[in-house]
Amino acid sequence: MTDDAHWLARAVDLAVANVRDGGGPFGAVIVREGRLVATGQNRVTRDLDPTAHAEVQAIRSACAELGDFSLAGCELFTSCEPCPLCVSASLWARLDRVVYAADRDDAARGGFDDREFYELFARDRATWPTAVAAGVHPRAFDPFEAWLGKDDRTPY
Ligand SMILES: [Zn+2]
Repeated sequence: MTDDAHWLARAVDLAVANVRDGGGPFGAVIVREGRLVATGQNRVTRDLDPTAHAEVQAIRSACAELGDFSLAGCELFTSCEPCPLCVSASLWARLDRVVYAADRDDAARGGFDDREFYELFARDRATWPTAVAAGVHPRAFDPFEAWLGKDDRTPY
């Protein structure tokens, strides 16, 4: 078995176990230099947290484990193609690589239509089920002025 296949199997096993425990069918692991750093399982229904996807859980856990907000040098293996939330989280985490087992079509067949969100970004925001629009506020740039004026800020 290749290393990728090994870690994907771990992610799939976590996903299947999570279903058995009453959670959603998603699992993920984060690996650095061939060693397991953290695992994650979908906790949306258990924690009443719509952002508690397996990948996000694994990222949070890996960051806590490594004591860093960057996961550069790490790889994420997940049981299913990451949704836009988790792709974005992976980009923010500066992961080196993301590898998935099932794809978005498998997810749709399993009752989780992430494709809808991917397709949403290609459409006019006016057609989205959640309204997202710019408001007008005279102090809108104040937070960035505060940020840029802070000499000891921590870039990320
Ligand atoms: Zn996700």
